[in-house]
Amino acid sequence: LFITICGGTGCQGSGCQKVIDALKTGIKERGLEDRVGVKVTGCQGFCEQGPLMVIRPQGIYYVQIEPEDISKILDETIEQDSIVEELLYVDQSTSEKITKEEDIPFYKNQKRLVFKNNGFIEPTSIDDYFNVDGYSGLAKVLYEMSPDEVIDETIEANLRGRGGAGFPAGKKWKYCRIEEAEPKYLACNADEGDPGAYMDRSILEGNPHLVIEGMIIAAYAIGCNKGYIYVRAEYPLAVKHTKHAIEIAEKYGLLGENIMGSGFDFDLEVVEGAGAFVAGESTALMYSIEGKRPMPRQTPPRSVQKGLFGKPTVLNNVETFANVPLIMQNGADWFKSIGTENSTGCKIFSLVGKVKNTGLIEVPMGITLREIVFDIGGGIPNGKKVKAIQTGGPSGGCIPEDLFDLPVDFDELYKAGSMMGSGGMVVMDEDTCMVDVAKFFLDFLKDESCGKCLPCRDGVPEMYKILEKITKGEGTDGDIANLRSIAETIKSTALCGLGDSSPNPVLSTLEYFEDEYRAHIHDKA
Ligand code: SF4
Repeated sequence: LFITICGGTGCQGSGCQKVIDALKTGIKERGLEDRVGVKVTGCQGFCEQGPLMVIRPQGIYYVQIEPEDISKILDETIEQDSIVEELLYVDQSTSEKITKEEDIPFYKNQKRLVFKNNGFIEPTSIDDYFNVDGYSGLAKVLYEMSPDEVIDETIEANLRGRGGAGFPAGKKWKYCRIEEAEPKYLACNADEGDPGAYMDRSILEGNPHLVIEGMIIAAYAIGCNKGYIYVRAEYPLAVKHTKHAIEIAEKYGLLGENIMGSGFDFDLEVVEGAGAFVAGESTALMYSIEGKRPMPRQTPPRSVQKGLFGKPTVLNNVETFANVPLIMQNGADWFKSIGTENSTGCKIFSLVGKVKNTGLIEVPMGITLREIVFDIGGGIPNGKKVKAIQTGGPSGGCIPEDLFDLPVDFDELYKAGSMMGSGGMVVMDEDTCMVDVAKFFLDFLKDESCGKCLPCRDGVPEMYKILEKITKGEGTDGDIANLRSIAETIKSTALCGLGDSSPNPVLSTLEYFEDEYRAHIHDKA
């Protein structure tokens, strides 16, 4: 049997390293090395319960483990096959103790594709990745498919970019492939600047080869030999594991010249992020890779025509690339059988806020917000009622409870005044003031505006000032009209997506919670 213990950043923060050390020492002292293996995995998603441990193959799930608990686990579960009751997860809704991972509602109601192996493999072991069919998608592509066939399969699967805009990845690859200019470049956006969103970090920390494999396949499809992974510098573990995985992949002939003897060459490099939210915007990101200040530029030309170093470039995010090997292994029809017609496959969200179970979840597109909040999230703590959910990161929108039966996909969230974004979800209960929520996100966005264009540079701080006035009880009805007018101006004139979407917190809260704005104005509080 073997024990998997989460070594992701969340569990590191809860002190998992001491638990890992105690576990390894305990196994050695008892002479159990031949009977019990230990794997330190990437993020298993249920970060609030960390440090997490699973005894496999039984699937016994222990939570919030301290180093002192290790001797009990080894004595009772490993040597006597019995359960340490006090380390089991307790369902907050039923107070029931649950023994197995697959019976915990947080996991039971998810569908894990990209995250499927995060809890099983060691991110630093390429053998572990091979054991879960790693690089078999690449082998199939290189030996059996032409670049055009790879593009057609990706278009057929309707894989839409998971970074926010939802543009079909296969079409983007096609537009780049048909450009005549050479060389072409590939870039992976792992900048993930949204507060509270950490799905890309967890994929790179836990399964970096999955992203690398997806990138090699994409490079082969578009005909490019050089790629970059632009990772937030504030993600040291993701940077470390990605660099290590690239090094190992090079040693195994999976990167570099003549990959798998196919004649295809591809090099990959990690670039650490510049530490600004705007650096995640596609054109700014490319400037940053070139060593310049990350500021967005006007489009067109699109990056597929003139991107990195003025050459055709494809930029996709971590989660998008991570889906590619799965599509190549299982086929477009399999991928299309999951999700909705226009939003296929699954999506990873970080579920946080006023909800009982918080963490990273992967769910099929088309699931409702109600299922996410109640079946996976376990509902609202302290007997409170739910009021809204904010989706899409700081420039997303707030969706009220009466729209919770909405299917979660790219188009439906957009129609409701929000967006998928990279996948942040913040749940709000009945005590949350929605004007405060809008002010909170605008505070972030005004600081992160790069200042290049006037509507965003001056308009966002102006909206913030009005929100401050309203929440201090000094607002007037005219302020609401002003907010709307500034928001509409920014939306129609800002240079980049960051500015364009920054009024969303204000517009969506005005749309659904205008009464709360009026209450501040008329009740003067
Ligand atoms: Fe910079 Fe904002 Fe203009 Fe984008 S919209 S270029 S972030 S000032």
